[in-house]
This record gives sequence, C-alpha cells and structure tokens, in this order.
Amino acid sequence: MPKEPIRPNIGSIKPYVPGKPVEEAERELNISGVIKLASNENPLGPSPKAIEAINKYSKEVNLYPDQNCYQLNRLLAEKLRMPPENIAIGNGSDELMLLIALAYISAGDEVIISFNTFSTYEMVSSLMEASLVKVNLKDYRYSLSAMAEAVTQKTKLIFICNPNNPTGTINTQKEMDGLLSKVPKNALVIIDEAYGEYVESLEYPNSLKYVKDRMNVVVLRTFSKIYGLAGLRVGCAIARPEIIRYLNLVRLPFSVNRLAQIAASVSLSDNEHVSKSIKNNSEGKAYLYRELEKLGVSYVKSEANFIFINLNNDADAAFLEMMRRGVIVRPLTSFGMPGSIRVTIGTPEQNKKFINALSGSLKP
Ligand SMILES: *Cc1c(COP(=O)(O)O)cnc(C)c1O
Repeated sequence: MPKEPIRPNIGSIKPYVPGKPVEEAERELNISGVIKLASNENPLGPSPKAIEAINKYSKEVNLYPDQNCYQLNRLLAEKLRMPPENIAIGNGSDELMLLIALAYISAGDEVIISFNTFSTYEMVSSLMEASLVKVNLKDYRYSLSAMAEAVTQKTKLIFICNPNNPTGTINTQKEMDGLLSKVPKNALVIIDEAYGEYVESLEYPNSLKYVKDRMNVVVLRTFSKIYGLAGLRVGCAIARPEIIRYLNLVRLPFSVNRLAQIAASVSLSDNEHVSKSIKNNSEGKAYLYRELEKLGVSYVKSEANFIFINLNNDADAAFLEMMRRGVIVRPLTSFGMPGSIRVTIGTPEQNKKFINALSGSLKP
C-alpha cells in the first residue's frame, strides 16, 4: 500500500480517548439504566435559564452567530472584572488550546507539558511539530519546579492544568509565582482552570493577577464543567490584549455557535445554579471519601469534581466490571496510569450506585 501523503508528524498523534457514551455501553451490554461518571460533566445539568434561552432562540439558527461574541464577551468581562479586550471566546477551551498552538508554535519549538494530564496539550503541540519536553508529577501533583528546570531558550509554551485532570490536585500561588519568575520573555504559560470553580483550597492562585500584570500568561476557563454546557462547546481565554488579538486572528469565523453564546451568557448570571453545583460536589466528595475509606480503597484528595482512585491492579478490568453493574467511570490507561480510575462526583443517587458497583467489582 502506498503511504498516505500526510504531514509526517500527523502519524504520531494519539487519538483522543473520550469517556464511554451511555448509549454505547447499553448497546454493547444489552442493558439499560447505565450512568456515566466518566467525563466530569455537571450531574445537575445546565442552568434552567440556559434551557429556556435555548428553546426560545432555537428558531434563529438559520442566522450566523455573532463572530465577535459581543454580548458574551461583555458579560464575561463584567463577571471577571477584566476589560473585554483581555478575553477570547472559543468553541470549548479545547479550541483555544489549538489556537494558541497555531499562533505560537513553530516546528522545533519546545513545549513543556506534564505526564499524567489532559491529553489535548500534547495533541495540539504535536500537530504543530513542537518538540515535547515532558516532566513527571510528584505525589500526584504538577511539579512546577521540575517544569522550571526544563525551561531552555527554545521553550515556547508551558501547559499547566490546575486543578490537574485526572488527579484533582492543585498548585499553590507560591509555586506558580516561583515558576513564572523563571520563565523567559519569549515563552507563554497556559494555565488551564477548567475546574477552578470547584477549588476549596485557600492557596489556589489568583491567576488573573498575572494577566493584569501583563505577564505572558493565558488563563483558560470553560462552560463545560460547573456551567453544565459541555455539549454546546464554549470556553474562554484571558490574556493580554495582544495575545487575544492573535488568537482571534487564527480562529475560523463563527466557531462559537449562536445557541452556545446565548446559553453561556444567561448561565453566567445564574449564581443559584453554580452554588447548588458546588454544594452537591462538596457533599458528594465527602460521602465518597467516607465510603472509599470503608472499602479500604486508596484515593487522592480532590479540589475538582472528580476523584482519582488507585486500584493498584488492572483498571481496565475494573472499568468493565463496573460497567456491567451500570456505572461508566474513566480508566486511566490513556493517561499513562493503568492501575487507576477517575470517577466524576455525581448526584447522591449516582454516587451510591458507583460505590455499589465499585464494591461489587473489587476482588475478594
Ligand atoms: C474538561 C476539560 C476542559 C474543557 O474543555 P472544553 O473544550 O472547554 O469542553 C479543559 N481542560 C481540562 C483539563 C478539562 O478536563
């Protein structure tokens, strides 16, 4: 067979491994009532205000969206107390990661990423023919000191997931200050705060401060997690206006659809839904900690809406066993952690169902 005439680096890109969809599990096992705690989606759903707005404006999908996301941009600016020029909106924060890579990486530039983290950083960097520099986690946490040591003159981007997916751990303000003091002027630090709203630790960095200080930092946030809009795809980047202009320059027109812009806009003002989601998460987390301890299963304390669980044996087998019991979790083999799983904190009923499935799947 002749070789595909693709760019050579494309062949080495690993396909993204998503959480298994409920419909697929039910079809394969010929069962029903399966629940999915595998993609860190909001178990309470979207804000009722968002549902209402989507219904109301669905008739307008014949019209192109506002390519500048004017209204959402202004509302976000107000909420974050940042000028609108400091904010770019994307088709999920995933799109913004791609735009950063497109705008900044030339072939051979070094990109520093961690092992055992969100795979999109590696994907977008490989796509742009970056030279990847990978550092290990330390005690399930990002080692910002190891990242600082990996910096060279060729470093272009440094990706930090805070809290880290899949371990749920955070880096502190002091650690972040320390790293940023060692980053050269021609490098950009991306701080992905997809789970930032769930953090309870008082040591969590105020990352917008770095943007206000005009540092080379891009903060990423998303509507996919606490706002429950994963299916609509909206995220934002907060950075110096110069950076924001370049990200918008490489973005395709209309990448953020009409209903997504409207739903995100109204969700921003639903503080009640956000508080409910935080409360559900922190109570669910406490329940799961207690039950995991009763089962003698080891886990990592989480600052996010999921828990990293160490099964110390074949997580793929445990995943299958739990799925047969009606619960889809995330095996972490694709994250380079084949002995562990990640479970999203669900509603009280879902958490209970998960504990039953886990308990049933543990070998005596
Ligand atoms: C879920 C998640 C995101 C969000 O991605 P979207 O494209 O906004 O849905 C970003 N980063 C991490 C680490 C995540 O886990």
